[in-house]
Amino acid sequence: MEKTMLAAFLPGNSSVEMRTVPVPSPQHGEVLLRVKASTICGSDIRCIYHEHLGKGPEGYQGVIAGHEPSGQIVEAGPGCRLFKTGDRVIVYHISGCGVCNDCRRGYMISCTSEKYRRAYGWQRDGGMADYMIAEEKDLIALPDELTYADGAQVACGFGTVYEGLEKIGINGNHAVLITGLGPVGLAAAALCRKLGAQRIIGIDVVDERLKLAKDLGLCDDTLVSGEENVAQIKALTGGFGVERAVECSANAAARATAIRATRKWGKMVLIGEGGGMQMNPSPDMIHDQKTLYGSWVTSTWLMEELVERLVRWNLHPADIITHRFALNQAADAYSLMASGKCGKVAVCADGELTAMSK
Ligand SMILES: [Zn+2]
Ligand SMILES: [Zn+2]
Repeated sequence: MEKTMLAAFLPGNSSVEMRTVPVPSPQHGEVLLRVKASTICGSDIRCIYHEHLGKGPEGYQGVIAGHEPSGQIVEAGPGCRLFKTGDRVIVYHISGCGVCNDCRRGYMISCTSEKYRRAYGWQRDGGMADYMIAEEKDLIALPDELTYADGAQVACGFGTVYEGLEKIGINGNHAVLITGLGPVGLAAAALCRKLGAQRIIGIDVVDERLKLAKDLGLCDDTLVSGEENVAQIKALTGGFGVERAVECSANAAARATAIRATRKWGKMVLIGEGGGMQMNPSPDMIHDQKTLYGSWVTSTWLMEELVERLVRWNLHPADIITHRFALNQAADAYSLMASGKCGKVAVCADGELTAMSK
């Protein structure tokens, strides 16, 4: 096996720095993965690629980038209990202490240990490399029916969405509004479809995204973001508004639209990160008996459940990947993702580079 590997770092000035670094070896309870697919997240662009937002333990620590990896175990360190060489796996993207209350619930995203909480691609080396080290406790088995590119999409995007949708509950009684049709919004549409939503309405500002949502059959109606959106949505829903709204844009105007286009007794979940929000509690929420949820990433057990459902539904998250790049073209991959004129962007290796999803 080779001693060195290629790895991508993000210096924070909208560029990517490729370096050759030693291939690490797994310590107790860790595995070495051959990274097969590693997708780029909106948060990578917003908080690391353009500039390093967030300082201290929450900030990017100059490590190998990439928090949405999927790969195959090439070496299991001593003390591994379940996973072994050859296993196909997804990495839950935040490694927690394992013993705080949040970690015990499976929500390592909100691990309260300042010393041990380290996200892959932020505070510890991530997946934009030929190989990566992951802790066994952070691994989810990837079923044979799903590709590595499918798996990379589960780690952050689809898992985050599934958690939010579980909170508000989606079924065949529901018209659903999705604000923001980036990769997270598209994932929301794909999952709402499988959960039986009766009508799916999507809003975005970027033409490429609206077209993708239509072409993939994920939205029944797509609307260009604008002041008339609430009236348009009411017209599409018999004057009532939607029963469920999923906010993926982080845009203040879109959030206001989502709240006002949700009908009486409806439920809404905030998933998109950052930005602000303005509303008038009495007319917008209280008098119409609405419920608003916040939802942050997901848990390891719900991620496992999602993987099982994806197989059952024959749903392939990689379908929303529009562009694949080799690791040595990582700079092009980040720059395309930053432009927004794409679906999901993946850096892939071996068979995943040329493969389409199953
Ligand atoms: Zn992500
Ligand atoms: Zn913890």
